[in-house]
Amino acid sequence: AAFGKTRSGDLKPQRLRPQRGRPEQPRRPISRVDTSSEDQIFIDVPALVSEELFGVVQTQLQENRQRRRDRPGGGRYLLQGLVVCKRCGYGCYGKPVSRASAKGKIPYAYYRCTGSDAYRFGGQRLCWNQQIRTDILDAAVWEDVRQLLSEPERVRTEYERRLHGPAAGPDREVKHLNKMIANIKKMISRLIDAYGDGLLDKSEFEPRILAARERLAKLEGECRQRLDEAAQESELRLVIGQLEEFARRVSQELQEPDWNTRREVVRALVKKVEIDEREVRIVYRVSPSPFEGGPQQGYLQHCWGRGNDEVVITGWPTIPLAVLNLKIS
Ligand SMILES: [Zn+2]
Repeated sequence: AAFGKTRSGDLKPQRLRPQRGRPEQPRRPISRVDTSSEDQIFIDVPALVSEELFGVVQTQLQENRQRRRDRPGGGRYLLQGLVVCKRCGYGCYGKPVSRASAKGKIPYAYYRCTGSDAYRFGGQRLCWNQQIRTDILDAAVWEDVRQLLSEPERVRTEYERRLHGPAAGPDREVKHLNKMIANIKKMISRLIDAYGDGLLDKSEFEPRILAARERLAKLEGECRQRLDEAAQESELRLVIGQLEEFARRVSQELQEPDWNTRREVVRALVKKVEIDEREVRIVYRVSPSPFEGGPQQGYLQHCWGRGNDEVVITGWPTIPLAVLNLKIS
């Protein structure tokens, strides 16, 4: 056995979007990193399994590594990992229809909410949200993204304008805030000690501790907000860097860019796609600014009527409105 096999390092993003009910920024911004064997301390321990069994498992592991367990072709659905159910908050997965229900037509698939599978929740489904055809949603989202890329200059100007905004050295500010938070915490524990030792009576202690706790809560809130802003800003820089490259690639190819390019572009720009009962919302990684945008960014409405179903997207506020009609077959 070895001690110190991992250490904490800089935060590495691991997911496309946070899990259900989890915050976007982790409480402690670190990731676990494997250390090299020289940095580890080895300790002799009695063996738990026989050496033969260990050998057998090693060969099996080697075999598994060679026949990679994940799909050789990568993802199957364009929006895989991005689609979220607005009703229950669980992610959606791509589910192909059975050959029988496809009835000899080209097989198709749905994005289906994980919460609507009864077998995952002890026989009771949590969610009754609609599933949505993958081809229709993929096309609609791609169209919106393409619209955004058709005017990279304009988008870039808008992004850069926001970058020159209020953010000024968030790192230093966060450090300063953390210092203040530590001081307040120290003060609170000193107050409690003083009260416990009988140096303060209740009428002196109570207002002071209340004020200190209030201040602590306020500072912690401010600190969280700064961290969020910093994360947004670094995301913004990343997007700006990629935007023009993407725009070039998308416009260069005369016909539609291939599936992998499309997937890469969508995953870089789109944070998540929320499916509600009657509408689908595309949330971009960089949300429009509060004073210009309004809440209706990237809306795509879906009318679930019969016969004349259509998907209507109204684009991003900073981007010209795009209206797209898609027939559901
Ligand atoms: Zn759901």
